[in-house]
Amino acid sequence: MTSYLKEIVILGGGSAGWMTAAALSSLVDSQKVSVVLVESDQIGTIGVGEATIPDIINFNRMLGISEDAFMKATHATFKLGIEFVDWGRKGQAYIHPFGTHGVDMNGFDFHQYWLRARQGGHTHPIDDYSMSAVAARQARFDLPPAGQNSPRAHIRYAYHFDATLYARFLRSYAEQRGVRRVEGKVERVVQNPDSGDIEALALDNGQTLTGELFFDCTGFSALLLGKTLGVGYHDWSHWLPCDAAQAVACTHAGPLLPYTRSTARPSGWQWRIPTQSRTGNGHIYSRAFMDDGEATEILLANLDGEVMGTPRQIRFTAGHRHTFWKNNCIAIGLSAGFLEPLESTSIYLIQEGISRFIALFPDASLPAVVRDEYNRHMRTEFEQVRDFIILHYKATERDDTPFWDYCRTMSIPDSLTHKIELFRTAGRTFRYEEELFARTSWVAVFLGQGIVPQTCDPVIAHLPYDTVVRSLESMRAAMAAEAARMPTHAAFLQSYCPAVRA
Ligand code: FAD
Repeated sequence: MTSYLKEIVILGGGSAGWMTAAALSSLVDSQKVSVVLVESDQIGTIGVGEATIPDIINFNRMLGISEDAFMKATHATFKLGIEFVDWGRKGQAYIHPFGTHGVDMNGFDFHQYWLRARQGGHTHPIDDYSMSAVAARQARFDLPPAGQNSPRAHIRYAYHFDATLYARFLRSYAEQRGVRRVEGKVERVVQNPDSGDIEALALDNGQTLTGELFFDCTGFSALLLGKTLGVGYHDWSHWLPCDAAQAVACTHAGPLLPYTRSTARPSGWQWRIPTQSRTGNGHIYSRAFMDDGEATEILLANLDGEVMGTPRQIRFTAGHRHTFWKNNCIAIGLSAGFLEPLESTSIYLIQEGISRFIALFPDASLPAVVRDEYNRHMRTEFEQVRDFIILHYKATERDDTPFWDYCRTMSIPDSLTHKIELFRTAGRTFRYEEELFARTSWVAVFLGQGIVPQTCDPVIAHLPYDTVVRSLESMRAAMAAEAARMPTHAAFLQSYCPAVRA
């Protein structure tokens, strides 16, 4: 007879722990399945993680959370994409927008028409054909209308928010639905001597918590999957050499931008993320090429408001655990792996771990095939995101510092070489295995960083230049006019969901 899981324990109360707890509490009957979350105020959380991608909207919807309540509670702003400054070449900038570029025509991708026009001398950047990018550049925002065929319907968006407030918000959601929170530091993990399965967590306050399934959400320490079960780590730092970050907030200055800005620096890059209450900033860099003191100076010299506090130092290694689920333990969040926040994918990877677990919800026997499928899926997710992030470093013409020289000339995974070569020939790019980043994303970064195909698709190459440019011009004019009708981002937020501040 099938026996069902009755005791689930989540160790860790950062975004990963509370997102897992909230999702489980929305699904399982708390009378039949106990979900306990243990966290230690003494250890605290990482407390960064402010930019997201549009998939978070689905996560909140799955929980039945209303957008304005969420935005008020987390001081969120809207995000239409990421502006990359100085990445391909110094002095250049492009936007990786959410949503599409233009409109596909006659079964061909929009960017093929754009390439055809470019060959004939048309000079408008592809950003001009993305509704999200056009609105972002004007610091405007409006929600996409439901079911309308206007340019605004092409907008997709995500949020900038305070991740600590998000965890707090989800804590209250989960506790209302029966999750029990236990304060305490785990000092010892009790394992079954034969199988190695985790049986209980012993806390510093004398409590012992038993469970059948354990989520390791302990952040970089990976206390359960890494330290206890001995699962090793795939180190990708030869492809992603940044291994340190410093983060600090500053006050707002200038218009409230509805996008993240990522500016390349001599040995890494700096983020700028505006929430409703402050601007989050961070400098990610490689210690092989820059010391911490210089990194701090660069960060502080490039803030556009008054600094709030002193920079927090964080160390990391890009990569992921060899397996994400071993025995009766699943790592979610930083304990599972970390790819630097260049494309804001960490919270997404948490969400993906949770969704995949739910899709495979096991019985108490925890079948090996379920575990294998989970590991296969998460490995693929990490590898696909990895390739997209490496592209930003590899596709650069910069040779002005040893760091950029290294990135430009480093070897890259074969999977990424294939994608780059395919795009270079005639601008082709395809989405493999439901990968997170769709065509628009790859095209934006390829073109934004100077990988321009030798020719466009041969079928489109035969179209008359004037006809193609007329279509493009009407799209561009429609988008520019639509953006001009939108409220500013600040005005929209003020009417929609001003944050409730203490
Ligand atoms: P943590 O926040 O570290 O939480 C770990 C939890 O485990 C804590 O509650 C701690 O108390 C508990 N714990 C640990 N050991 C014990 C113990 N022995 N006993 C009891 N409790 C214990 N993500 C994005 O999506 N967008 C971003 O813009 C972004 N920016 C980032 C920038 C940087 C520099 C870094 C490093 C990460 C960034 N991330 C971003 C990632 C994001 O911060 C994390 O993925 C997210 O916050 C999840 O963290 P976590 O819950 O895994 O770990």
